[in-house]
Parts: sequence; structure tokens; C-alpha cells
Amino acid sequence: MKTSAAPDTVVSAFQALWKRSPERLLFTFVDERGRDEETITAGALATAAEAVGSALHGWGFRPGDRALLVYPPGPDFVRALAGCLAAGVVPVPVYPPNPVRLGHELAGFRSVVDSCKPVGALTNGAYERARTVGAVTGFFDRAKPEWPRLRWHRTDRVRTGGLDWHEPASAGEPALLQYTSGSTASPKGVVISHANLACELAANASDLGLGDDTISVFWVPQYHDLGLISVILSTLIGNSHTYLMSPLTFLHRPALWFDVMSRVRATHTAAPNFAFDLAVRKTTPDQRASWDLSPLRVVMSAAEPVRPSTVDTFCAAFAPAGLNRASFYPAYGLAENTVSVTMGGKSVLRLDRAALHRGEVLPAPDGRPVTGCGRVTKPGTSVLIVDPSTSLVCPADRVGEIWVSSSTTALGYLGLDDETRQTFHAQVPGDERHYLRTGDLGFFADGELFVTGRLKDVIIINGRNHYPQDVEDAVRDCHAAVRPGGVVAFGVPREDGERLVLFVETTGRSSEAERAEIAEAVRRRVFEACGLAVDEVVVRPRGLVLKTTSGKVRRRACRQAFLEGRV
Ligand code: ATP
Ligand code: MG
Repeated sequence: MKTSAAPDTVVSAFQALWKRSPERLLFTFVDERGRDEETITAGALATAAEAVGSALHGWGFRPGDRALLVYPPGPDFVRALAGCLAAGVVPVPVYPPNPVRLGHELAGFRSVVDSCKPVGALTNGAYERARTVGAVTGFFDRAKPEWPRLRWHRTDRVRTGGLDWHEPASAGEPALLQYTSGSTASPKGVVISHANLACELAANASDLGLGDDTISVFWVPQYHDLGLISVILSTLIGNSHTYLMSPLTFLHRPALWFDVMSRVRATHTAAPNFAFDLAVRKTTPDQRASWDLSPLRVVMSAAEPVRPSTVDTFCAAFAPAGLNRASFYPAYGLAENTVSVTMGGKSVLRLDRAALHRGEVLPAPDGRPVTGCGRVTKPGTSVLIVDPSTSLVCPADRVGEIWVSSSTTALGYLGLDDETRQTFHAQVPGDERHYLRTGDLGFFADGELFVTGRLKDVIIINGRNHYPQDVEDAVRDCHAAVRPGGVVAFGVPREDGERLVLFVETTGRSSEAERAEIAEAVRRRVFEACGLAVDEVVVRPRGLVLKTTSGKVRRRACRQAFLEGRV
């Protein structure tokens, strides 16, 4: 039974909204030229949800069953998501593998299918056509043995149908399955309950000041926690009128993001750090002067490390567009905590590098800058900094693993009992609570969380810890032919610790002499900036650095490829 203090479930909140305000505009979809293409009101979405929901029952889905959502970005995805929730079917949003470039995209898709065993996959005509490109009769279903066997259903041609909306029997019932990005290992399916979702959405609305006057513009992927929960589900319950565009539209024409925000007088947006770098590189001073971004109240930077130099460059470059620097809003989170852990970063600290390598927090005026990722705002949440080897809480001036216990900490990983126990049920002496081990390192200063890196990616050289992103940042501008975002650093074992290897992508094809010159520049810069000798530099054009479907670097996968001699 629901207590009066618990927020409504996403299903009941959406039902209340469309019954109260069926004409309320929720989503506007923007095409690849930045024009409004389609708008969905609360009432229209409810009708679509009922149609999809009743079709799901007709296709044999029962409440609690899982449905894979395999859609290109767009309104059909949103309708299918709402249909699943209405029918009590657990949606599993995934990146739609590109049939033309299968490769590891197919391996990732297959591992998701194997792990979540969906009753079927939902899709639309656009993806079905893409899926059968180059083949007359279901090439991917028949001829390719590695393409998973699945029952596919098209939701873009279902007929209207009545539906008894599913009410979760308890708030602990699974609401959706969210796969992690796969930065450090294969993506894992995180089971998120209705209570998790409700608490996350309530916290988001109050942290970000969402309400009737909120106008948002987003292009972040619809199948990852930020896009799925903080954008789409938050909009579905009436927290914003949201303009959505495809991530590909943004990547092809970054200026459109700002064109649209300026045109609709957006108040909220969010993106990972790399997008703010790209925005500066791919827009001109004239364009920036022509936009009005002064209505923006929140420009969230999340999902990957927030580089202080990116924030400075972006805010300075977009000041002529009226961007208020105070609206820049670093946040930290992970799928295992539904989305957010801390919100609203304010400060930048400079820390002594040598001390940081020993895990100590020692302010130094010319030290490494680290961006604050905000504060813990969710009621009843505890975030600790813990020594991962002893499980004891660290003293205030030490870096340790970030452990979280919150109403939004998810139920666990689907089908992975050992990993669930290790990751979600950690404990510290004298505290009854179960903690989520985030695998991230950080510390608190004046109540604000600073994230320093990932535990699994730390490189140990001569007994000292080094963060790969320090090495990568140093190399970024050491030679004009180094591709932005195309650098990874990792350690590979040797008898007494690790040796340092770098992968460096070039902007175009380069001659052997130029590659040697780049490698030399890289070695010199890493030595000057970090005092480290590089053991090996691999220099290649684009494609060397492996990334997740959301564009995050996969350092361990690069390391594996190197160790197996696949580069
Ligand atoms: P996988 O768990 O499959 O290896 P992933 O950890 O990248 O992939 P997500 O849950 O999508 O999967 O991403 C959360 C992670 O992203 C965090 O654990 C953290 O490492 C990183 N991250 C998110 N926000 C920030 C931030 N503000 N600063 C630094 N890192 C961040
Ligand atoms: Mg993770």
C-alpha cells in the first residue's frame, strides 16, 4: 500500500496528468534540419499507450514480462515506452544496432538479448526497413547465425484499443531494465523499481526547478539513463515541454542544438562533457552572437568527467549568446542509482598532483583542477568515501571509492547474483545500511562531491596511482593531427606493476613519418606534464579508440585489444 509520503508512480502520475490536461504539450520532435516535425500531447500519448498496451497483451506479453525497445530516435519509441508502462510490461531500451555496420554492435545487442530474455522486441517500420537492408527475406533473422532469434512486433501500426492500466502491486515492482553503458565491461541490466523511478523524478523536479514553464531541448540517447529517465520519463509526467532531436542530428550539425534552444527559448538542457567541446569547435563566433541562450537556467553536464577547461572554454565562447555561466550544472550519477547521485556542482578545486597520486586531497594553487559535481539532495541518502580494500570510511582528506545508499539505489543486476551482492550490498562497520559500490573514486569538500576517476581504470606505475584522464588531457593538444576525443591511456601488466600504453587517433590519414612525429610529441608531452615514461604509443586514424554506444571511451576494451595483438 502506498504511504502518503511516497511520490506517485510514473504510471499514476501520467494518468492523472492526461485526465487533468489532455491538451498539455509534452514532446516536440525536431527533424535533421532543426524544424518541428511532430508534437505529442498528454492525451494523444495516453491513447497511443493504450493502443500499444493492448497490442502487447495480444502478442502474449504479460505484466512483468520484458520487451526490448529497438527504435531509431523518435516518437515511436516514446509511444512504445508509455505502452509498456501502461501494460505493466518491463521495457528494455537498447541501442538499435546498425545492420550496415554490425561488428561489435551485434555482439552488444546479442549479449543484452541473452541476458534479459525478452518475450519479444518492439520496433517500427523505419528500423525494420533498415534491418533488412541488402536482403530480400529477413537476412538478419536467417542468414546470420549470430543475429539473435527474436519475435519482432511493429508498434507503429497498432490500432486503438482499450486497456486496463496496470497498477504496480507494490512500489518495489520492477518498472524498467536499464543497461549500463559498457565503459568498463559488458553492459549489465540494472533492475529499476517503481519506487526508484518515482523518487528520482521527484528529486529531479525539485533540484532542477522543473514545472509548467520548463522548456527543454535534448539530443542525448533515448536508451540511456539520462535520456530515458531524466528526459523522457520526466517529460511524460508533465515536468517539461521537451524538444527532442536525434543524437546523430547533433553530431552532424552541432549548431542545431543551439538554433533550436534559441528559437524555443529553452530553459533546460543536458549533455556529456565532449559535446561542449564539440559545440565550441563546430560553431562560429557569428553564429554564437546570433543566438539568445539567456533563458537557459540549467545546462547540465553529466555522464562523463566534467573537465574544468571545457567548462571555461564553453562558457566564454557562448557568453555572447547570453549564456549565464551560473546555469552550468555539473552532476554525477550512474544507472545503478537510477540516475543521479549528486546535483548542481559549483566549485573547482586545484589539488597537488603528487598528493593525489597517493590518494591525498591537498589544495595547491597550481595543481590539477577538479570540478565539483554537486551535493547530495535526495532525502534519506547517504554517500560515503570508502577505502575499497578495507571497506572502512576514509578520513576527510583522502580519496576513496564513492558508496551510495539511497531510495533510488536500484534492485540489482538482472540474473547476476554474485555481482549484485558485491556491488549493491556492501557494508561499513557500524552502519546497518547496504551500499552501492560505484567503482568511482572521489572525495567531499565542504559538502560537495568531487569525482576523480574510475577505480578500474587507475594505472599503477612504480607503486603510484595515475589517472588515465590526466595523461589523456595532457596529450590532447600536443600535435595538430591528434583527433579530439581520440586518446586513451591504460596500463598493461609487467612484473612490478604496470607499463603505460597510449592509443592516439589522427584527424586524417597520416604518413609513417608523421605518425612517428606524433608518437614522439606524445611521449615528450606525457613526460613533461605527468613525469611518466610512455612504453608504447599506437597512432592510427579514427576507429582505434573503442567507445560505447553513448560515446564513452572503453579503456579496458582497448587494453584487451592491445594485449591480444588486435591493433
Ligand atoms: P559500465 O558500468 O557498463 O562500465 P558506465 O559506468 O559508463 O558503464 P553508466 O551507468 O551509464 O555506465 O555511467 C555511469 C558512470 O559514468 C559513472 O560510474 C562514472 O564513472 C561516469 N560519470 C557519470 N557522471 C560523471 C561525472 N560528473 N564525473 C565523472 N564521471 C562521471
Ligand atoms: Mg558503471
